[in-house]
Amino acid sequence: MGRSLVRAWLCSLLALVLLACRVGLGTPAQPLAQLPTRQSRPSQAHGAVFSPSHGSAPPALPSCHIAHPATPLPTRATNRHGTPPGPPAQPSPAPWRTPVPILMYHYIRPMPGPTDPVGRDLTVTPAHFAQQLAYLASHGYHTITLKELSLARAHRYALPPHPVVLTFDDGYEDFYTTAWPLLRSRHFEATVFVITALIGHRGYLTWGQIRQLDRTGMVEIGSHTVNHLDLTVLSPAAARYQLVQSRLELASRLGHPVDSFSYPGGRFNSRVVELVREAGYRSAVTTLYGWATPRSNPLALPRVRIHGSTTLSDLAHLLPR
Ligand SMILES: [Zn+2]
Repeated sequence: MGRSLVRAWLCSLLALVLLACRVGLGTPAQPLAQLPTRQSRPSQAHGAVFSPSHGSAPPALPSCHIAHPATPLPTRATNRHGTPPGPPAQPSPAPWRTPVPILMYHYIRPMPGPTDPVGRDLTVTPAHFAQQLAYLASHGYHTITLKELSLARAHRYALPPHPVVLTFDDGYEDFYTTAWPLLRSRHFEATVFVITALIGHRGYLTWGQIRQLDRTGMVEIGSHTVNHLDLTVLSPAAARYQLVQSRLELASRLGHPVDSFSYPGGRFNSRVVELVREAGYRSAVTTLYGWATPRSNPLALPRVRIHGSTTLSDLAHLLPR
């Protein structure tokens, strides 16, 4: 064979090797876009952790402190090295299971004189209130709003450890001037039930204060009807007006739906509960004693009343541990 023939044969061989290399090594790796989407990391906002399930992107987060446990997710390396991704991750909700105390407050103000026994019973002094908040903080309680409790039930969110709901009935101005600064200093949340016809009246919250509280994202504003009447003795039409009108006005002034309700005087029956449901509320609190559980009727939730005479020792016995 001539030298030129050998050179031509070597060139052909080299070309074949190069072609083989291109086919074997040059193929792009699996594009990342084809990896399972459930690798997306849990999102976090406003202290909430949300873990997607079924591989779907996390839905819009509620502004709350409800935590969902992070589901262990496959690593990217595992999948890129050929391990079958397996079935989609099963939702692993750790839903609300433990009892939740919903504390009921009215006034946070200096104690009235002995001629006002009702007022005294409804009053917790600022000093006692501060001590109660300190107790809750030091014993690991985490405040949530009533709306967050409702979301936990509906969406099977887990609750933070030792959850507690702090509610304030009637919408007294001292919530803004006295209770809220103490709550805010501890990053505590609260739910305030206002009587819409009394807003701006002497001793009651103003619309400006209510809007300001609402915009903090730490205070939920709920309805306590228009006129604080006993709904069980009103005609269906009159009761419906109290429920719907107050909800509409609050929603209009705040710019978002209002989901929580407190029965005036704690008075309710099955007919009133149905009207509350029809009016669009998702949660309603009573004055019946007890802790809320997942089995509680969300429109007839029990509460724990905090009296003017409630001591720290009493409070400790009123809370689940
Ligand atoms: Zn009331």
